[in-house]
This record gives sequence, C-alpha cells and structure tokens, in this order.
Amino acid sequence: MTKEDLREAYPFGLACAPRHEFVRFQMSSGTTGTPILNPYTESDVRQWTEIMARCYAAAGVGRRDVVQITPSFGLFNGGFGFHYGASNLGAFIVPIGAGRTHLQLQFIRDLGTTCLTAIASYPLRLMEVARGEGFDWKATSLRVGIFGAEVWSDEMRDRIESEMRIRTYDIIGMTETGGVGMGIDCTARAGIHVWEDHYLVEIIDPETGRVLPDGQAGELVVTTLSREGFPLIRFRTRDITSIVSRDRCSCGRTHLRIARITGRNDDMVKIKGVNFYPRQVESLLMKEPGVGNDYLIEIRRVQGADHMMVTVEVQDPADAGLSRNLQRILRDFLGFGAEVALVPLGGIEKAPGKAVRVLDRRNES
Ligand SMILES: [Zn+2]
Repeated sequence: MTKEDLREAYPFGLACAPRHEFVRFQMSSGTTGTPILNPYTESDVRQWTEIMARCYAAAGVGRRDVVQITPSFGLFNGGFGFHYGASNLGAFIVPIGAGRTHLQLQFIRDLGTTCLTAIASYPLRLMEVARGEGFDWKATSLRVGIFGAEVWSDEMRDRIESEMRIRTYDIIGMTETGGVGMGIDCTARAGIHVWEDHYLVEIIDPETGRVLPDGQAGELVVTTLSREGFPLIRFRTRDITSIVSRDRCSCGRTHLRIARITGRNDDMVKIKGVNFYPRQVESLLMKEPGVGNDYLIEIRRVQGADHMMVTVEVQDPADAGLSRNLQRILRDFLGFGAEVALVPLGGIEKAPGKAVRVLDRRNES
C-alpha cells in the first residue's frame, strides 16, 4: 500500500470497522492534496495508549514524572499520543500543546517538568528563546527528551543533550500506522526498538520492491497486526532505514531494532546528478564550531543550471574563515560548489510545526 492508495480512499474508503465503532481520528500532515484520515476504534485507542506507555518506559519515564507535551493537540497525532501514554503511566501531564515558547520555558521551570516531548526541531526553538531570556537549564528538573516526527542527525542530538542537559530518545510512528509510538530507542542507544507484537516491519529496495537482507538500507514497510479501524498491509512509509539487529538488546528488550531514520524518499535532494538527504548536510554543518542550530537549503534554476544555496545560522556572520570552510566542506561532500550565506542566530524564520530544511524553487518561474 502507498500513501496514494490511502489518499484515494479519503475519507474512510479503507476503514475496516463499522462506522459506529469509530471513536476519533487523526489526520496526516501531508503538505499536498487530499489528507489521509486514520479512524480509531476504542481498541485502537487502547493499543495506542499501550505502545506509548511502553515508549515512555523505555525512556525511563514513569508515574513520578512531569511530562510536558509540546506537539499540538488536534488533527496531528503527536499531542494526543503523548497524552494517552503519559495518562496510562499516571504521570503529571502538562498539556500545553504547540507554540507559546516563553510559557513552555516558564512551565519547565515552575512546574518541575522532567520529561519534554516534542517534534524534533522544536527543542532548537526552545534553546534559542532560552538563550535570549538567560534561562538556566541547569536549574530545571528536566531529565528526558522524547523527540520525533522529523529526521534529526546525531550531531543535532548531541547539541540538544549538552545544552538542555538531558538524555534524548528518538520515537517513531506516523498517522498512517496509528500515530506516534511504533518504536523508540532505549538507554543502550543501539537502534530503535519496533514493537513487533503490533507491527511487522520489512525493508525493501524502493526501486524493485524486493525485501532486502538485514543491515541493508532501504524503505521501511509496515504491516499493522493489531489495528482495527485502519489496518495496513505492507504500507510503504518512504522512510529510509535498515534492520540493525534481531538479537536481544543489552537493555533486555527482544523487539528488533532499526537504524535511526536517515531520510524520507520524498526528502531526497537531487541536484546535478547527486542525491543526498538534508540530514547529511546537517551532520556536516553541526560539526563546525560557531555554527548554530538551524539551516536552510534552497535550490534555484539560474540560466538553465541548478544552483544551491545554504543559509546557516552562526554566532558571527562576519566570519569569512568559517564561510570559506563551510563552502569547502560542502564541495567535498557534494562534488560541486554551493553558495553559503551566514546569518545571525535566530536569523532563519521558523514556522510552527515541522521544520522546513529544503526549498526547491526549480519549478517556480
Ligand atoms: Zn534496547
């Protein structure tokens, strides 16, 4: 099954439970065309609650924790998924939802938040506003961050952990599979455990559809084993990953592990015959001292040729040495030259929701 199959079935053409048994739905946040609706039965809500509670447990979060939920409560699945799981644990929930960054920081400080849940780029926004306010992360009780819904590099992860002084966990899942919580990495940080009693995962070659052996990178394909309202059979997620291990993990869990998501088929940038994922550029940029936490890749067509510009937030936009260095790093990686524009920290405008890392303007006139 593909996203297109699910879209064509809008609103409930592929639903497999009687309509009167639906109790709610979530909607995919796709940017184009018809949305995908996932209707939940009561059993599906229980399933979601259970897998999310498991994810919290894998991150060491329990009933004594204060869980601040920063994804939105609405059609996007994040807010409610984190809510159901934390509610099941008996944790104290701070259901603030998206935005209101100053209030988020105030609550982290005043309510003793120990676990922050977010779309993976939101911590960067929090850190930026915190710096502006002179907010002291050391003085908080924050211990754990559970972040997902976007591809975030290991380098980005290191930065968030050292600035916020927390341990982060990478959570996966999407509206189509029944929401956030399909799997999470554990304290061993040796791959993302997928809850195999609920989800059967395969990795395929995106070109041929052939199932690939463990260890080889390809497209993640998911079959839901316990969903009633909107079960999926061999759904192509477009996420690129690989199966890391089926052995027992040092954390004790036996659920198989996949690699952190490298990119989405949709996100792959193709320019001058070179294919790459934004996360690869992110990794290179984040290794350089003086580089901030946000960047934007723009591609234009100039006189018939593709032209790439990377705008990078940095501590000192007048640092010509850093600019030359980044140009050299990008040229080494891409095999062609890219323009680099340095802007001050906070200089890239951030829209609410998922971060925009690539603007492909080649089809604009
Ligand atoms: Zn583990």
